[in-house]
Amino acid sequence: MVNYKDLGLVNTREMFKRAVAGGYDIPAFNFNTMEQMQAIVMAAVETKSPVIMQVSKGARNYANATILRYMAEGAVAYAKELGCAHPEIVLHLDHGDSFELCKDCIDMGFSSVMIDGSHLPYEENVALAKKVVEYAHQFDVTVEAELGVLAGVEDEVSAAESHYTKPEEVIDFATRTGCDSLAISIGTSHGAHKFTPEQCTLVNGVLVPPPLAFDILHEIEKKLPGFPIVLHGSSSVPMDEVNTINQFGGKLEAAIGIPEEQLREASKSAVCKINIDSDSRLAMTAAIRKHLAEHPGDFDPRQYLKPARENMKKMYIHKIVNVLGSDGKLAQ
Ligand SMILES: [Zn+2]
Repeated sequence: MVNYKDLGLVNTREMFKRAVAGGYDIPAFNFNTMEQMQAIVMAAVETKSPVIMQVSKGARNYANATILRYMAEGAVAYAKELGCAHPEIVLHLDHGDSFELCKDCIDMGFSSVMIDGSHLPYEENVALAKKVVEYAHQFDVTVEAELGVLAGVEDEVSAAESHYTKPEEVIDFATRTGCDSLAISIGTSHGAHKFTPEQCTLVNGVLVPPPLAFDILHEIEKKLPGFPIVLHGSSSVPMDEVNTINQFGGKLEAAIGIPEEQLREASKSAVCKINIDSDSRLAMTAAIRKHLAEHPGDFDPRQYLKPARENMKKMYIHKIVNVLGSDGKLAQ
């Protein structure tokens, strides 16, 4: 049993309180590799931002949860080495799918976990989230739960309307589970292909996706004033990265994300955590494809991973400063 506090990590409670009150968002970046971890830490230190480093099921399969935990511990030490005396770094489990997995992560030093029972019938979702909360709170680990289902990569967004979070359920859910934050579904979705071109409107040659359901968000805020709300699937899928990938041999068709203006709008509300994963993948792949196309003789991974790391760092800083507004928001 390792407690996250001994690793220098923090939970989400205080940073969410400040973010909701201050009308900004905490970035939640997924990581799988050392380069992503370094880029996240460099960006957070340079901008003096709190940051959530999150581990998905895919990351655990790829890199191993133990290794990722040690990387997060290393991230704290690295942030201090870069000159940040009091970094606020959360190690968060993204989309935990069972009590056992959440418990394992808590026991190995995660400071925050998500239990995603959103696909379950309502009462089962409540019972599962409650069980995780009861365990987590013994160790002051914070818990994110989810109500409503996000469209996945393959899903039709037109069918997603019926999966939007129902505002009439949120008070009961938050009260009975005791969760610390709530992920909701208001039109964001996972992956780099969030919408089909048919679902978008063509404005000045750019495909603009349907707007997020701000009416539902505002209803939820009215029911749970000040309660931390989380948006998943909030990559913007920047067209310059997609174009670079395609220019240098890639084949990404109709990749469409959530416009950054919509996220900026959401960040002024009780939304206080925005999950970004695909944009980091795009930034990394674009830089690697470009480097290898321009330097066909290179074969040392450091030669193409260095520009990849730089490009991700640039993207993270852009999100922190221009979209989420968490720059300069460290407690001390
Ligand atoms: Zn998600």
